[in-house]
Order: sequence, then C-alpha cells, then structure tokens
Amino acid sequence: MKVFKFGGASVKDAKAVKNVANILNFFPRENIVVVVSAMGKTTNALERLTDAFYYQKESAESVLAEIKKYHFDILEDLFPDKNHPFYTELNNTFVELDWAIEEEPSPDYNYDYDKIVSMGEIISTKIVSAYLNESGVINKWWDVRGLIQTDNTYREGNVDWDLTKHLVKKDLLPFFDEQGKIIVTQGFLGGTSENFTTTLGREGSDYTAAILAYTLNAESVTIWKDVPGVLNADPKWFDETQKLDQISYQDAIELAYYGATVIHPKTIKPLQNKKIPLIVKSFLNPKEKGTIINDVQSPLPIPSFIFKVNQVLLSISPKDFSFIMEENLSDMFRLFAERQVKVNVMQNSAISFSISIDNDERKVPELIKTLQKNYKVLYNENLELITIRYYDQATIDRVTVGKKILLEVKSRYTVQLVVKNV
Ligand code: ASP
Ligand code: MG
Repeated sequence: MKVFKFGGASVKDAKAVKNVANILNFFPRENIVVVVSAMGKTTNALERLTDAFYYQKESAESVLAEIKKYHFDILEDLFPDKNHPFYTELNNTFVELDWAIEEEPSPDYNYDYDKIVSMGEIISTKIVSAYLNESGVINKWWDVRGLIQTDNTYREGNVDWDLTKHLVKKDLLPFFDEQGKIIVTQGFLGGTSENFTTTLGREGSDYTAAILAYTLNAESVTIWKDVPGVLNADPKWFDETQKLDQISYQDAIELAYYGATVIHPKTIKPLQNKKIPLIVKSFLNPKEKGTIINDVQSPLPIPSFIFKVNQVLLSISPKDFSFIMEENLSDMFRLFAERQVKVNVMQNSAISFSISIDNDERKVPELIKTLQKNYKVLYNENLELITIRYYDQATIDRVTVGKKILLEVKSRYTVQLVVKNV
C-alpha cells in the first residue's frame, strides 16, 4: 500500500487534475490512498470567507461566489458535458457553504473556521475523485473525518491515535481486499466524537498522509510537489539551490521544525516510528527520483538554509531586576502555550530572556500587553530569522552580508541568526 499526497498546487487547475490521473496510471496494480489538499489557494480564500462571515468586514456572499466560480471553471474543463450528474452533486456540496454563512456566528471563531475552511478539501476531493472515475482511474471517495479522530481543539486538532488506528483497521483496511484499489480522501481534516469537523493546522495535509500511512502500515508516502524534491534552500529566497537526494528523519524533523515549508513539521514522527520512507517528488517530472527521507544516519552533504521573515524579537526582563529563573521562565512559557505562540529561537542571560516569534497581529500585541504586567518588554520588528543546518563560517558570512545580527544561537549542527537589514 502506498500513500500519495497531492497538495494545492498539484490540483490548482484542470490541467493539474488531469496530471494526477496520469501519475496514478503509472501505478496500475498498487493499492493507493490518495490524500488531496484544497485546490490552489482555496484555503486562503476560505479564510477570507470565514473572516467576512465572522467579522462582517466584506460581503461573504461575494467571496463565496469567487470561490464557487474558481471551482466550476475547473469543473467545466474537466467535464465538458454540463448535464453530467456531478454538476448537481457539486452544487449540493456548495449549498453547505451557503448555509454556513447564513447562520449566526458561533461564540468560537475557531469552530466556525473549521466548519468553513474544511470545505476546501471536501470540494477538491469530490472533483478529483469524480474526474478520476470518469477517466478510468476507478476510486472511492472517502470522508477522512470518519477515520482521523481528534479532540475539539479547532484549527489544531490533536489526533486520538488509538481511536484513529481502530477506525482505519475496521473501516478502511477491508476496502483494500485486492490489488489495484484506490481511495481519494481529504488532507488537513479530522472529526470529533460529536461529528464536528476539525483541521490539523495550516499545511496539515502532509500530516494526514503520515497518519494514514502509520495506521495502515503503508510501504511509503509520496508527496507530489512543484519542486524536484527537498532543496537545501527555498528558491524564493536563494538563487543557487541544490536538491538533496536523501535526508535522515532527524534532519528532516529539524529542517521542518525550523520552518522549511516543504514538509509539515508533524509529518515525520509517525513515519520515523514505523520506518516508513517519505518521498518528495515533482508532479511535473514524475519519473525523476526526487528526495527520499528515511532511516539513514549520514548528515547532509551541504549546508541547508531556512529563512523566516516577519519576525519580532522580544527581550523580556523582570521589572524588579531579579534573575531570569525557573519560575519566571515557566510563567512565560505557560503564557506562550496558552496563546499558541511558537518560539522560533530563544536565548537567556541573567536578567533578560529573548525570543523570536512570528509577528502574528492576532497574537503578539496581546502577548506583549500581558507580559508587561510583570516584565519589562523591549521589542524589535521586521526581522528575519535565518537557520543554517550544517553551517560553517563561510556560509554565515555569505547570508549575513548587509545585515546586522541581533541574536545568534549556535549548537553543534545548527546556527540561528535573527537579523535586520541595514
Ligand atoms: N489546504 C490546507 C492549507 O492550505 C492544508 C494543506 O494544503 O496542507 O493549509
Ligand atoms: Mg495548501
């Protein structure tokens, strides 16, 4: 059994969806779980829709109309016959969104967010599944919310592994009773015991693929992407990038944790636990080898860079000039955890503690205000965080040209630099 994950870019238009069929045709006798994300930038559009609905900033109806048009344009290309019964089915699916935005907002923004944003994956999988069946790639559409069970932490559902394992074994596994069977299911989504919809965190579809691979004991997971594999740097920020042929689970976790966007950080652990290889490959050149992440020990042959913009550096010190001690630190970390603030890098001295975090306007101002009750807080915005795995001085010098280093944390294999353009 193989698990394939197709992200938003790989299903962003009709041509891309057709390409998914081509790829699956290379694997005629395999059992395959196909995990699909929302099409293109649909999740962002649905976030806009949620805000429009919840805060009444703009017309929810017109945002929804845009989303609908985008999908129906793709559909018309895939199904030229407008009398095809799938048109009615997709219309009915969109009705769920019509209803969602007609209701009164619930007291919990995150609950409404998951209800609305999750529709991106429901819609994309319906289209992909229907098109594949139409073109001869016979498959069954599967609602992942009946398999992956989470608690009701909306927008960041925590997986109930025992229950998920049980449901996958009981319901999904028997489906694969002979060779060559395919299911198409949603990335990013989960369900609660009360049948509410949750999501697993932005870009969570990779994680879905890993959860299903783990619970099915799959032989491998393949993430089909618009890049040839895992590169040592994001081509968005660096001109010269190199593809890495093989990466250890440990390096993959480190790179993902520090913000390499190729793989969702939670993806590696379940795969590592069962030694299931993760292959990152180009959907444009499916014959090329890509990158394999597996149980090797060797370090990466070249330095890898991860670049995060929009950082804010907070320097926190107790007002009474007392030391930064365990109590102060646990007090601060409790605050970070409660507010879901992820610390990207930290450093402490006797009387001050510094962290770099993403400058999220929904979290940071409130966090600073709360901290200021007990601490003096200095902050510096518009910074960049550069992480180099397997660094050397030459690469540090190269990436810091024209930048001032405000904070530097070095460990044996990794250096992190918070910098400002000068
Ligand atoms: N569609 C979701 C997102 O864009 C999940 C994913 O693509 O992995 O965040
Ligand atoms: Mg996406």
